[in-house]
Amino acid sequence: MAKKDNIRNKEVIDETGYKLPTISGKEIRVEVRDVGQGNCNEIYIDGNLKYVYDFGTNIYATKEEVDNLINEVYSIYEEAKPILILSHWDLDHYHLLKGLEAKNKNPFSAFVFIGELPNKTSQDVYEFMNEKLVKEVYSITPRRMKGVPNLTTLTSNAVLTIYSPDGRSSRNNSELVCVAHRRDTDIILSGDSYYEQIHNAILSNSVKNINLVLPHHGGRAGDVSVVNTKNIKNVAISVGKDNNYGHPYPSVTAHFNKCKVKETSNVGQITL
Ligand SMILES: [Zn+2]
Repeated sequence: MAKKDNIRNKEVIDETGYKLPTISGKEIRVEVRDVGQGNCNEIYIDGNLKYVYDFGTNIYATKEEVDNLINEVYSIYEEAKPILILSHWDLDHYHLLKGLEAKNKNPFSAFVFIGELPNKTSQDVYEFMNEKLVKEVYSITPRRMKGVPNLTTLTSNAVLTIYSPDGRSSRNNSELVCVAHRRDTDIILSGDSYYEQIHNAILSNSVKNINLVLPHHGGRAGDVSVVNTKNIKNVAISVGKDNNYGHPYPSVTAHFNKCKVKETSNVGQITL
């Protein structure tokens, strides 16, 4: 089921070719790593790291800062060989992958991403992932549509669902979004996607408690007022101290004032 798309000279597997491997487990844990103004979420099953959603940090991070963040996790990742799912190609979500490219090292067993590469930096990282080290590379290509695209289920197993956009109007609302499933709680990993998408595709269909990693570091992500917070227990914000963007916005955090809200900039790594 391979096809060529806009990625230079590469055979990639399109969205119909990707299925998450079957897996089961009792204890599902999500860690929101403290990577400053960026995103990196990890999903552990019975204590074993299985999935990493984004591998980024501040777009202005120095080489040393990038190396330090990689070194914190590298030996764990190398042993666990998790699947990497990239929400979208903004550097704060894949800066650490660029750091791996510089080291020519890669601990991931598979790479799932949106197959529209916006610039040379992303193309170089993609080529590194594809050619040198990762055997399984899955490029998800959204159709082009106007307006904020819906999210639809791409693939799921007992502990994880990956949603893909069925359209594209900007990089921030045509992303892969993940939900980790516990018996009584869904944990939504939202990248920089829009509240409307999260509401329509996930929240309005879930009867479980919700733990939510806020989209876009608590900044602007569509219309937060569409979100009913009744079932949302814990909220995590992956955000850097004193960032230039004013994230998280007080108007956004105010909407979640009935939930338990934690920011990585205040508390470091957050377990959900
Ligand atoms: Zn971001």
